[in-house]
Amino acid sequence: MPDMSGFRTLRGLGVSAGIAVGSALLLEAPSTSIFRVPVPPERIAREITRLRRALVRCKRQLLQARERALREAGEGYARVFDAQIMILEDSSLVRETTESIRRDGVNAEWAVRGIVERYLKVLSGLVDSAVRERGTDVEDVHARIQQALSGGPRHDLSELKEDVIIVSRVLSPSDLVLLNRNHVAGLAIEEGGQTSHTAIIASALRVPAVVGLKGIASAVRSGESLILDGGSGTVHVEPTSEVREGYLESARESKRREESLMAERSLPAVTTDGAIIGLLANLELAEEAAAAVNSGAEGVGLYRSEFLFLHLSPDLPSEESHRATYRSLAESMSPRLVVIRTLDLGGEKYFHRILEKEEGNPVMGLRAIRFCLKRKDVFRTQLRGFLRAAAQGGLALMIPMITEREELVQAREILEACRRELLAEGTPVPDRVSFGAMIETPAAAATADILAREVDFFSIGTNDLIQYSLAIDRGNPSVSYLYRPLHPAVLRQIQGILEAARAAGIRVSLCGEMAADPLCAALLVGMGLRELSMKPSAIPEVKHLLRRVSLAELEDMARTALALPSAREIEDLLQQRLGERLPSGIACPVGNK
Ligand code: PEP
Ligand code: MG
Repeated sequence: MPDMSGFRTLRGLGVSAGIAVGSALLLEAPSTSIFRVPVPPERIAREITRLRRALVRCKRQLLQARERALREAGEGYARVFDAQIMILEDSSLVRETTESIRRDGVNAEWAVRGIVERYLKVLSGLVDSAVRERGTDVEDVHARIQQALSGGPRHDLSELKEDVIIVSRVLSPSDLVLLNRNHVAGLAIEEGGQTSHTAIIASALRVPAVVGLKGIASAVRSGESLILDGGSGTVHVEPTSEVREGYLESARESKRREESLMAERSLPAVTTDGAIIGLLANLELAEEAAAAVNSGAEGVGLYRSEFLFLHLSPDLPSEESHRATYRSLAESMSPRLVVIRTLDLGGEKYFHRILEKEEGNPVMGLRAIRFCLKRKDVFRTQLRGFLRAAAQGGLALMIPMITEREELVQAREILEACRRELLAEGTPVPDRVSFGAMIETPAAAATADILAREVDFFSIGTNDLIQYSLAIDRGNPSVSYLYRPLHPAVLRQIQGILEAARAAGIRVSLCGEMAADPLCAALLVGMGLRELSMKPSAIPEVKHLLRRVSLAELEDMARTALALPSAREIEDLLQQRLGERLPSGIACPVGNK
């Protein structure tokens, strides 16, 4: 809201938590001043050569960027460039642009813009937001080609010398990987959603970021002072000194808190009466493993392997890329165990062209194991890669979105067939694979006793279990106030799953977001869980609380909680009993996500 001092606040979607204070650096959108210049027939060949040279120059730049990202940030980030190299090399882009130069007698700049605009129009008409977001890569490649054609240098963010908050309509993942992060305090971007490459990478790199800031690129000028809160999704422009001081103090406080929490990172998560709780990490990129170990993770309880697809898109990962990724994860985490979840493509996550067609209700559609059992070729490629990586140990496998026993039986048969096949080929494979099921549908929760006979372990996926049990779309902000992990319906199902696992004598862990909330984590321990998997940054906070409570009191609290009639009362109970032992500075975290 503007006032006399120029102070105003913009709101978007916080995709990477943290507070950034700095001056705005506005990145210009790709130039729109591209003119149509007629090219006479005798100069057409020269114009096409000019285009080809520009494409070669762009490719060289992208390969260099890839190499640098690989060196500085790892394979997962480097792959971001593959998507752009693919767009650049797309034979129809080159062919259609060349044809347009020839047919319409126009300059390369005009021809390439016409083709790119057509691509972008097609992408923007698609229902799925993840595919629409691929338009960012296309726009970035387009800007690069235009710059190469003009012979001008590309704005190089790696040259930044002072702390800034980048403000831009779009920020490509390539720019984000390449920029000199020492000087980038935060990112304020107009476009993008939770699943955009940029959001995922900003969060993995822990750069505070807000996306979906409508109009920010025209509302802010370079040099204006900004405060960005990546948790709440707020950007304050030209803040008053009181607002500024308030944020600076809370940034200092959260740094102090983080440092004191990190001091405990190598200590076990053990209650005051000696119960040991395993705190594991949920990972999306293999390169996050080092940060996970640094936060005190005792293993990886969930590796979301569909991110491999996202980075390689539109290609599918080969057996070798599955193998190499899982092996590198196992080695980085060694001697800790890494649980690889088979592809959970579909649903609200990412639409990939392999899913063939968009579905009206994808969350209940051809997702995860359903997709894998339909596209056995894709599933087998993943399982073969997994088995080859598992030959040297350290890996377990788990299957998402199970709703019936038959899915587990079939998945295990395919796994066993792949194992025999590899053996016959003379490839080393493990004799046995630890095989688990995600319990994340009400159907799986209700039949946990039946499913427990088919697996070595369960992992409770509360993100989906809550969504399906409470009929709340986990991505829909209009109903997010009803998304309550402590709803009695959720807790009763968790209790039933724990009883089934106990009766069958199998291990059980929980890997939904709920585990990252210290109060919920404590309740889950009181209910009987001894293994929780969460985003690495949450481990120190959860550990802090667990080291200050006794199992006996958590069990008593769980008994009381399970007898209460509503989420609100359970939330209050947790806050009353444990609130004071939370690390200072954590606001009551329990409740709506
Ligand atoms: C879950 O559903 O709780 C889970 C951990 O899986 P995802 O968030 O990837 O669906
Ligand atoms: Mg899930």
